[in-house]
Amino acid sequence: MNRATSVFVSEPGDRSVLQVREHDLPDPAEGEVQVEVGAAGVNFIDVYKRQGVYPVPTPFVLGEEGAGTVTAVGACVTDLAVGDRVAWCQSAGSESTLVNKPAHLVVPVPDAVDLEVAAATMLQGLTAHYLVTSTYAVKPGDVALVHAAAGGVGQLLVQMVTARGATVVATAGTDEKLEIASELGAQHLINYTTSDDLAADVRQAAGRGVDVAYDGVGASTFDASLASLRPRGMMVLFGGASGQVPPFDIQRLNRSGSLFLTRPTLADYVADRAEYVWRAGEVLGAVADGSLRIDVGGRYPLSEAAAAYEALEGRRTTGKLILVPGA
Ligand code: NDP
Repeated sequence: MNRATSVFVSEPGDRSVLQVREHDLPDPAEGEVQVEVGAAGVNFIDVYKRQGVYPVPTPFVLGEEGAGTVTAVGACVTDLAVGDRVAWCQSAGSESTLVNKPAHLVVPVPDAVDLEVAAATMLQGLTAHYLVTSTYAVKPGDVALVHAAAGGVGQLLVQMVTARGATVVATAGTDEKLEIASELGAQHLINYTTSDDLAADVRQAAGRGVDVAYDGVGASTFDASLASLRPRGMMVLFGGASGQVPPFDIQRLNRSGSLFLTRPTLADYVADRAEYVWRAGEVLGAVADGSLRIDVGGRYPLSEAAAAYEALEGRRTTGKLILVPGA
């Protein structure tokens, strides 16, 4: 038996339900590896789970992604060894000093990538990757609307869309955040907290309706995103940082120009091990060769997890926040 310290959610609620405490952790079971966590990523999905928007039986350990060093290997694991550096996403219970993870959910971290950067890359990086390669395959000449463009997923979308030869219309809540999106390659910048007519501003900036709208902000931007699209454009609603979008009259797609609407989730784009390894290899490879920039906007010890979520939910962050057990 081992001891670990983890960030628990005791019951659904606000940040006061977070508890950081020590507990027993068994040796890794068959098919698992035990990993000393170098860093765990902070994501909006943790907020939804804590609040009960995505119901999870309590108590549970928060955190969907991380990176660390293998310290023990369970039976039947043949391709991993003690000392290997690994990362993962889509695996609950990651905000901890020590975790057991199914071996099929971890991927190798390239030597050139620091463990903290790897943890910061996985969930948002693979999300941006599937959004631009598979949900809507961005091609040269496209125009893409990216909301919250200085955020975690937003910064990566800006870079990946631009790298595919397309144009980005970026939105954010402050001019400082828009400056970050500009540095990453966004050609058109709109502060959506001061815009009187967001869709009109997007259309004017783009010179036409956009081919795809990547919207993780949700309730406050959804209508403007739809109204920004060209006929037969693709509305990609992938989150609800401002709140969930209420039930939707499907006839609006007809009236607005034969639009497409999808509400994708990462789980369905990494469920197959080969696809997961492919996406992680491309994204971590791009980080390793310097073509994808990861902005670690804040490092917090596990004991200050609540402060990290306060910053994320309060719109005070850019890039990615991580929890570092050794900090
Ligand atoms: P971000 O770093 O983008 O933080 C959220 C940003 O949303 C804020 O910084 C803020 O930027 C903007 N925002 C606008 N209105 C609000 C509001 N009322 N409250 C809080 N934030 C607001 O977060 P992530 O990169 O972690 O996640 C972005 C979105 O992507 C989330 O909705 C998340 O759930 C979703 N997601 C979806 C996945 C999927 O597969 N479907 C996977 C991963 C993430 P600004 O100040 O510029 O407005």
